[in-house]
Amino acid sequence: MEYLILEDKERKKQLKKELKEINKRLHKPKRKNAKPQVKKERKKRFIVSEEVGRECNRCGMVMERREHITKPNKTWYYTKWDYCSNGSCEKTVQHYDEFKSEDWKEGERQEEFLANIK
Ligand SMILES: [Zn+2]
Repeated sequence: MEYLILEDKERKKQLKKELKEINKRLHKPKRKNAKPQVKKERKKRFIVSEEVGRECNRCGMVMERREHITKPNKTWYYTKWDYCSNGSCEKTVQHYDEFKSEDWKEGERQEEFLANIK
């Protein structure tokens, strides 16, 4: 009996070894030169204006006024907007018509003009 148990142990050892080899073949080791994943930091596209924003219409906190660092490559955009920095407030960004870009305002003026002609 004792002999059998020993043999059993040897057999298990052998099986483990084989399994290890199989796994090695199946799961190729990671490339040595693989680049470590670095989270890309999002480029900041705005600055906090010296102007004071309005009060948030949700939580009442005075908001941060933000503006673009560089003019966006778009025709329709807001030149400034308010951002509520109150973390527990759902309303985070507030846009106002008066801060629409000139092209946007001009487009609306033309639309209105055409609408009045008809
Ligand atoms: Zn708020």
